[in-house]
Amino acid sequence: MKKMINYHTHTYRCGHAVGNEYEMIEAALHEGYQEIGMSCHIALPHYRSHLLHSLPSIRSIQGLKSCIGAFLRNGPKMRMPYDEKEDYLDALNNCQKHFHYIKIYKGFEAEYFKDYLDYYQNLLSSGEVDYLILGHHFHKHSIHDCYYGRKNLTKKDLLNYVEELEKAMDTGLFTYIAHPDLFLMGYGKIDDVSKEVILRICKKAKATNTPLELNAGGVRKGEVNMNGKDVYPYANAYFFQIASMIGNDIILGLDAHSPEQLSCEMYHYLEKLAKEYHLHVLDHIEFKKGKQ
Ligand SMILES: [Zn+2]
Ligand SMILES: [Zn+2]
Repeated sequence: MKKMINYHTHTYRCGHAVGNEYEMIEAALHEGYQEIGMSCHIALPHYRSHLLHSLPSIRSIQGLKSCIGAFLRNGPKMRMPYDEKEDYLDALNNCQKHFHYIKIYKGFEAEYFKDYLDYYQNLLSSGEVDYLILGHHFHKHSIHDCYYGRKNLTKKDLLNYVEELEKAMDTGLFTYIAHPDLFLMGYGKIDDVSKEVILRICKKAKATNTPLELNAGGVRKGEVNMNGKDVYPYANAYFFQIASMIGNDIILGLDAHSPEQLSCEMYHYLEKLAKEYHLHVLDHIEFKKGKQ
């Protein structure tokens, strides 16, 4: 029988999830997982200067508001403040001592931000974390106007997205790509541009031996109409049809933002989807460590 594994788990520390490290791992154990990877949105140092550099990218009132809010909090709503990083890792170390019947890995979900690649490498080389997954939510700056899930993405946005994913895969820092099809939520259609983007992502993932994630987050959002068919915005049928054709390795990711979201029903539902999409699902993964 295949092992139940999930490496995509958040905690309350990112500001939009509930459940602490202990509660999430206890839920995973209860639901029958053999391995759990904790991958809250990465804490970034020098965050205020990152935000200041993002000012030229602000194009809307909402973008400005989210930037000001993040500046005041020294961490936006979607990631933990940097001064919580140690507490997060300490809590995970304690959980590793406490829980004996589930394998626990320490990680973060991180964007491809050029300014932070050395920081990512240090986290891996020092052994502070076991792995990183690429959750590429933003173009260059983590502010609202740069979000890749927003409505009305342009062709240029999509080309930036694929280019950044390709560069990220070349670094060898990211163990797998979380919700590689996130952009389809905002772009909302399959046309020549999105087809090319999907093909490029799948080909690069194959060439660099990088698994792609079938993500439960988009399934929880429910189906949307895309090109006349009801499909999930991500865990997207069109995207994974191409992944199946290319022969990509696939990993299931619960993207759990509460203990309930680790439900084994959802895990089995993802397994069923993977079967429908004819995907090759892994039950073991090698962590990528960047430059050794
Ligand atoms: Zn994500
Ligand atoms: Zn996530």
